[in-house]
Amino acid sequence: MDSSPTTRLEEVFQTFFDMTDDCCCVLQPEGEPSGHARGLRLLHANASCQQFLASHGLQPDAGLLRLDPPWTRLLEDVAARGEPLRACLAWKGSDWVEVHAFPLPGSPGCLGLRLHDISQHRQMVERLIGLRRISTVGVISWGPAFGLVDINEGFARMSGFSHAEAMGKTWQELTPPEYHQASWHAVRQVTETGEAVPYEKEYMRKDGSRWWGLFAPRKIGDEVIEFVLDVTERRLAEAALRTSDRRKDEFLATLAHELRNPLAPIKNGMQILRLKSQEAPATRRTLDVIDRQLDHLVRLVDDLLDVARITSGKVRVVLDVVSVGDVLARSLESVQASLDAKSHRLSVELPEGEVFVRGDADRLTQVFSNLLSNAVKYTPAGGHIRVQSSLAPGQVVVSVSDSGIGIPAEHQPRVFELFSQVRDHQAHAGGGLGIGLALVDSLVRLHGGTVDVHSDGSGQGSTFRVRLPRVQEPSARPAHENVPQGVSAPSRRILVADDNVDAADTLASLLRAAGHQVVTASDGREALALARRFRPDVAFLDLGMPVMDGIQAAREFRADRGLSTTRLVALTGWGQPADRQRTADAGFDLHLVKPLTPNGLQEALGAAAGPRAEAKT
Ligand code: ADP
Repeated sequence: MDSSPTTRLEEVFQTFFDMTDDCCCVLQPEGEPSGHARGLRLLHANASCQQFLASHGLQPDAGLLRLDPPWTRLLEDVAARGEPLRACLAWKGSDWVEVHAFPLPGSPGCLGLRLHDISQHRQMVERLIGLRRISTVGVISWGPAFGLVDINEGFARMSGFSHAEAMGKTWQELTPPEYHQASWHAVRQVTETGEAVPYEKEYMRKDGSRWWGLFAPRKIGDEVIEFVLDVTERRLAEAALRTSDRRKDEFLATLAHELRNPLAPIKNGMQILRLKSQEAPATRRTLDVIDRQLDHLVRLVDDLLDVARITSGKVRVVLDVVSVGDVLARSLESVQASLDAKSHRLSVELPEGEVFVRGDADRLTQVFSNLLSNAVKYTPAGGHIRVQSSLAPGQVVVSVSDSGIGIPAEHQPRVFELFSQVRDHQAHAGGGLGIGLALVDSLVRLHGGTVDVHSDGSGQGSTFRVRLPRVQEPSARPAHENVPQGVSAPSRRILVADDNVDAADTLASLLRAAGHQVVTASDGREALALARRFRPDVAFLDLGMPVMDGIQAAREFRADRGLSTTRLVALTGWGQPADRQRTADAGFDLHLVKPLTPNGLQEALGAAAGPRAEAKT
């Protein structure tokens, strides 16, 4: 046996030829006398080739292989011209092959053929090409220096740039400056992690107009490929919704403010009637009804105003150290009448000793009054209402439970949403607007607390639980709590200026009935002229008045040395912190919101001979 190195090398090559996955064979075209090839004689074929041919139903017929005519011609050509061929070609159906056909030196008319099956690879490429053709999604590729190296038709349509125009453009050229920071962030994320969280930003079209895109980038090799959805329509719709929502809020705020104006004279008129009808029981009962309904109306209007403030983020809480017991006592007082009217049993369980939270006493009272008034409303007469307060680590937990109609489980998660009402409860709602619990939730959050609800379902009662962060007992009670209540003010000289004549007249009557001397004016200039003659101790000035508004009038009062002892009280529908600041800046001593309450009146008159008068001496 010949075992020379040459023979061994041949054996090695034979083994290699037989074992490679590629389909390899040696062919010799066989011509017919007419010049057309009859077929290709298969001189050698490795195992992969035999398998490949068998799987495509191409068994040689007496050593002659009959391929499709175009293939036969192609290979014949290679043998005839003596030039090799390299190409990726469709074989049959969806099969693709990479072809390398070459004349075999030293074997005239023979050619070597190597076929490599690339069907899977080709399928993948076609899938990607198909993906890229999608017209509703933009597909763009950024080169290593973040210049565009490819865009699909979808992106061309979104941006207005043709493929050629877009090439080489950087993201900075296509992005309005205010979005550069967001884009830089995404670029850094992609560079560091290979992907960025999908993000939305505005893009510039070729004509300079803008469009909104949702971008999802991915690093592939040196490039970053980005998928883009045009979300301009959705963005515009959202902006329109926000605008109409803001308008609605502004409308609510204005409506509530406008509603307050007529409520003020009605409330004053009520009190005048009360003073005059003490001895007629039927009239008194009627007045009680009107008074209660009026209070309800005032509460609704206040809730509306609060909603407008909450939705515009303007609610302010004045934080102080507040006793939870005091807040609960005030809240219970506010619902006592309705509690009695429905003959509910009330039990209150408080922890030993006082518990304090940092909060706004008025706002916290509003929270528990709302919960209590709901408990009263949604519990049939003769029910049981429980208020429990207990301590948890760092917290105080106050729960308001009732034995009422309960809340079905599916409604519980939504009761804190604005305007949400359980349909079956309408009969009990007593004219509610579905605002109360939304206010409770917002106010509790503003205090760093939480509120939740639990009910075992219809007819099983409800429990609302408020958790608030607890603070240490204050070293001394705030000074204002030591001011004695119920001091009746001595007779005063009072000026009332309001362009709403009813409001001015009813307040004047009320004040006269209490023994004061009162004059009225309907604009700022008239008020000033009158004040210079009348020298009032107190002037109630409305803010929105014709000719001269309340702010200007206050400035002129302050500029007039003869009026320096007059206590200036702004009496207005506007009660925002900014409004209060405006009146303080103009020189007002006090800012009261309409309708004037007995406490407000006392505050205005009780201190009329206070700091300003003392300062003069
Ligand atoms: P409303 O003005 O309708 O009372 P709220 O925001 O205070 O508005 O309450 C929202 C809804 O939650 C109510 O309409 C009612 O269906 C339900 N609800 C609130 N409190 C109770 C309660 N204690 N028992 C049963 N249902 C309640």
